[in-house]
Amino acid sequence: MLDSDDPLRKKNAFNPILAAQPRTIFDVMSGLAREYEAVNLGQGFPDVDGSPDVREFAARSLMQDSNQYPPSPGLLELREAVADHYRRFQGLDLDGPSEVVITSGATEALMAATMALLQPGDEVVIFQPLYDAYLPMIRLAGAVPRYVRLQPPEWRITPEALEAAFTPKTRMVLFNNPLNPSAVVYHEEELRIIAEACVRHDVIAVCDEVWEHLVYDNRRHTPLMAMPGMRERSVKIGSAGKIFSLTGWKVGWACAAPPLAAAIAKAHAFLTFTTSPNLQRAVAYGLGKDEAYFAPPRLGFARSRDRLSDGLKAEGFAILPSQGTYFLLLDLAASGIEADDQTFAQRAVKEAGVAVIPVSAFYAEDPVKSVVRLCFSKKDETLDAGIERLAKARRLFA
Ligand code: PMP
Repeated sequence: MLDSDDPLRKKNAFNPILAAQPRTIFDVMSGLAREYEAVNLGQGFPDVDGSPDVREFAARSLMQDSNQYPPSPGLLELREAVADHYRRFQGLDLDGPSEVVITSGATEALMAATMALLQPGDEVVIFQPLYDAYLPMIRLAGAVPRYVRLQPPEWRITPEALEAAFTPKTRMVLFNNPLNPSAVVYHEEELRIIAEACVRHDVIAVCDEVWEHLVYDNRRHTPLMAMPGMRERSVKIGSAGKIFSLTGWKVGWACAAPPLAAAIAKAHAFLTFTTSPNLQRAVAYGLGKDEAYFAPPRLGFARSRDRLSDGLKAEGFAILPSQGTYFLLLDLAASGIEADDQTFAQRAVKEAGVAVIPVSAFYAEDPVKSVVRLCFSKKDETLDAGIERLAKARRLFA
């Protein structure tokens, strides 16, 4: 690395890892949606704010309580509330003060975990399609990604494919469940495959579970941490933004055994140090609610999913089943559309006025090019307009 051509050594050179990252596909498609005044079914956020009582709690707290730096690892009341929430909903036994670190969104929890737990040269097993932040984070830590490629329609994880990604340098598995963008909820059978590999190779699992409350049709989320042998080697990451449909809040957390949590808390202390106290208080209040509070929004999202899915099926589209998240996938090949996902997405936004996300953007290599992702956490009129415009897009490829 002493080569004078190494861009890291050039004066005034910017970070080459970040410089090499393309503009995110969400940015690109939302930009085009604005330019072409398209219906935006691309980026994943609800177009109606959720949880009015949690927002009111935050507003009151903003005026009544301290607005100064909270303790770096988070307010004790929120750390306890996260532990209590997972005890009640997922049967986990976490100790708030020593095993929960509050962060500025799940994004920061992921960054803190990769910074804290990886050393240069370590390898990280990740699954494609992958959430866009994972790769730059792994590379900024000096670590090397090893891919497990998942594909439609079932996106199954097999022991053979997983095993092939491990080497003696593997230090971490980074797993997202429920999986954005494929909208699959993995259950015990596949979690066991991952857990057994982590134990056999003695590695840490970072499990990004931000979609844990958005699982439909009576499914339950199973945390990877609950699998045999995983309690001491898992980092479970969550997001209040997703749980309460307030994606702009950026309040998240990492839960892990004390040595892992302490290392993550140290990284967090240097990344953002802390997170808005009023939002932390409001999230603690919201996490204290029971199933009766979380069920209606979940049912509302499932209804929106069905509205979009039924409308598209009536227009002749083939849809892959959406078990969780805000997303469903439209199978272009099975819908009789021969174009690849990028071509379809570009023409759909420019010529039919609807923005979608090509799933190939979630692959670092050997992409699946036959599906596009649609976000259904939108008002009925937005979904209906989206269906109409997607039908128009379909005719472009007839
Ligand atoms: N991980 C995944 C898989 C996500 O889908 C998202 C949000 N789209 C995040 C992390 C980021 O969560 P937050 O907004 O809490 O940082």
